[in-house]
Amino acid sequence: MEIDHLSFSSVSLYAGTDTIPGCPHAFKMKMEGNKQPTSSIMQAGKGAHSDFEQWAKAGMLGECESIGKRLANFFRTVFKGVRSEDVETEFDMDMWTTRYVGRKDIRIKRGEIMVIADLKGWPSDWCSPDQLKDYCMDEMTNDPALELFQCYFAYRGPDYYSSYTWTKEEIEEHFNERSSVIERIMSDTEFEPVPSNRCKRCGYLSDCPAAVKFSLTTVPQVTSVADCIELSRQLFPVKAKVDEIEDAIKQFMLENCIDELPITDTDRYYLKVVSPSISTGKIKTKEQKDKANRILSLVGMKEIEAK
Ligand code: SF4
Repeated sequence: MEIDHLSFSSVSLYAGTDTIPGCPHAFKMKMEGNKQPTSSIMQAGKGAHSDFEQWAKAGMLGECESIGKRLANFFRTVFKGVRSEDVETEFDMDMWTTRYVGRKDIRIKRGEIMVIADLKGWPSDWCSPDQLKDYCMDEMTNDPALELFQCYFAYRGPDYYSSYTWTKEEIEEHFNERSSVIERIMSDTEFEPVPSNRCKRCGYLSDCPAAVKFSLTTVPQVTSVADCIELSRQLFPVKAKVDEIEDAIKQFMLENCIDELPITDTDRYYLKVVSPSISTGKIKTKEQKDKANRILSLVGMKEIEAK
């Protein structure tokens, strides 16, 4: 596999972060060009970023409505006087065997302190301070006189920010960690799948070799701790697949205004619309039976017999 550049998203896919384990197989899929589908959350983030970029470049972040009142005040104060070339800046670092690339939302230098912020939607386990440390790593390489790094994640959803302060020594340590991960990536030939809670957001689930290893037709024997560990590892992609199938059913029912489906003469699936979830229940009334029969006739299935 040809790896001509890496980034925060690819390296953290391989090695994980403080809260989400990595998966070398998912990394390999990404690097081979099997891009993960862009979710609606990511699309919304892109729109907000371009809005942010326009206002920031015009020096009017205090007016940017899409980031919320508190964040607008925060940006106006902390990034007062920011130059347009310091907004949405791309970087491309030489890491000996490959390049390390990224894009900083906004940065400003105050003496020996570098201040950087990254715009996010909502806080979650997927927001890792390692991303900000990567940006600091690039700043430190370009300007060895920097002593302190003040960084922020600015969350549009709840309209607040979290802050992080790192010394030059801490960023040097991060640089060394990143270098050793890059060495591991470059010498890996297997790229094994590592199932974990990452599976539930993984775009490569349908082709994952770890998911097909598990058979749902047998209940495996559990006789040792090793069995427990192995089986729980295998369950992550299976659970993620089941969730995906359930989501597809819910989506179809919502889009087609179907709130219940007959599964036998007396039982039905139904969709609780307030918080979409699938449950089972009894067909009790004549109205429910008529409704079930209408759905069955629509799909050409035999109607429920009248009792
Ligand atoms: S489903 Fe899980 S194990 Fe499979 S590639 Fe994705 S993260 Fe890795």
